[in-house]
Amino acid sequence: MQTSEIEALRGPVDGEVISAEDPEYGEARTIWNAMIDREPAVIVQPQNADDVVAAIAFARENDLAIAVSGGGHNVAGNAVVDDGLMIDFSGMRGIEIDPDRGVARVEAGALLSDLDAAVAEQGLLVPGGIVSTTGVAGLTLGGGFGWTSRKLGLTIDSLRSADVVTADGERITASEESHPDLFWAIRGGGGNFGVVTSFEFETHELGPELLCGMIVYPLESAREVLRHHREMTAKAPEELSAWTVMRLAPPLPFLPGEVHGLPVLVIAFVYLGDPEEGEALINERYAQFGEPYGTHIGVMPFAEWQQGFDALNPEGDRNYWKSHNLAELSDPAIDALVAAAEDLPSPQAEVFVAHLGGAIARVPADQTAYAHRDAEFVVNIHGHWTEPAEDQTGVAWVRGLFDALAPHATGGTYVNFLSDEGAEGVRGAYPPAVWSRLVEVKRRYDPENVFRLNQNIPPD
Ligand SMILES: Cc1cc2nc3c(=O)[nH]c(=O)nc-3n(C[C@H](O)[C@H](O)[C@H](O)COP(=O)(O)OP(=O)(O)OC[C@H]3O[C@@H](n4cnc5c(N)ncnc54)[C@H](O)[C@@H]3O)c2cc1C
Repeated sequence: MQTSEIEALRGPVDGEVISAEDPEYGEARTIWNAMIDREPAVIVQPQNADDVVAAIAFARENDLAIAVSGGGHNVAGNAVVDDGLMIDFSGMRGIEIDPDRGVARVEAGALLSDLDAAVAEQGLLVPGGIVSTTGVAGLTLGGGFGWTSRKLGLTIDSLRSADVVTADGERITASEESHPDLFWAIRGGGGNFGVVTSFEFETHELGPELLCGMIVYPLESAREVLRHHREMTAKAPEELSAWTVMRLAPPLPFLPGEVHGLPVLVIAFVYLGDPEEGEALINERYAQFGEPYGTHIGVMPFAEWQQGFDALNPEGDRNYWKSHNLAELSDPAIDALVAAAEDLPSPQAEVFVAHLGGAIARVPADQTAYAHRDAEFVVNIHGHWTEPAEDQTGVAWVRGLFDALAPHATGGTYVNFLSDEGAEGVRGAYPPAVWSRLVEVKRRYDPENVFRLNQNIPPD
């Protein structure tokens, strides 16, 4: 595309319009996963919804495919496109809290760190994910779960409304009262139906300090510990979240130096009730069990805990993920998980198991497009390395564990954990009835599939 053609877009757009010749181009097109290296024809960094309307119109007039970046974190890399138009929300990260109405209005470029900090200042919380550099937008549109979800539900369960620009450039609000079909679809159906410019979330009176911490076990005891964890999660109160990760031990200050870099199983905890009660519960149910390398549990600002895993997930590394939902942690599933953790392909690779259920499962399945409320556990096989030469080994390891686990999984997948897995992969993330309803909404709001750079739900 000629620079003179791009010039035409600078007039109607208040934000930045960046072409390949601008010094900001390199940074603006770079997303979290370094496996994705694409060169858009033009990047628009909107300041407001009218900029988004202008960007969509320009892309359609010039036949440019549209990619939308919230936080740019998604592993599949659909936030950026070769030769198309990228709408990059990094210039719209504002958050306004209305304590009287109990809501937070969040612009589409906000990261979880922005949201966590803003609500914590007022002793409030909005449920999000567990790495604070993740974008609120992509996380919410796929569902969103983290440490508080067993008690407060998914991120979408706290979503009250969203402002959306449609493929026709119409600005609408989606909520239970206004465009309820669209509101249903954007709560789990991703960016297929329009470009969201802001979200309004219900806030919860929790924090700003919570009981958080972890117990670190040698990987040699992982099978035994995971079987114990299975029993403990079966009777866990909704206040308690306990997630496990198998990886090489990071240099955590409470671990003896000689443990750093050894393969371990970490159980990380957050308790959303009285800290003394939580500590007693974790001590009784977990800390007495086995012979951990180290334990560190204490009350801390939740927004700070939310950043605890950021350093393990830096921007600019290479990532390939696959994920399974599990109804239970069966013995064969545990064997497959631990066998893969005994054979990590790189120092950064991880096998993550989130324990969900609780408030997530209490919401009727047809209330939102997120379709896996019955998944008690979500496994994320996190292939992660730094050098292109490691790609083949890393990807093969992820696929190997995915295949080994498949017979013990529900068959469902969390759409936000999909890599680029083609049409079949997306289809597999939704049960048939949900898929048909999503296709109907897609036909209504985006019949020409203008928004196709996503985990795509085609209208036909
Ligand atoms: C390290 C890491 C940890 C994670 N942890 C969790 C977790 O704990 N819980 C969890 O639920 N998920 C988690 N995720 C997954 C995360 O929810 C998804 O990757 C999510 O898509 C990231 O959102 P984003 O805005 O940063 O991504 P982006 O790459 O910017 O966006 C992803 C897609 O969403 C769509 N999109 C983004 N913004 C908009 C918009 N404004 N309007 C319309 N469509 C839009 C686009 O299709 C885009 O391709 C994690 C991801 C990473 C990388």
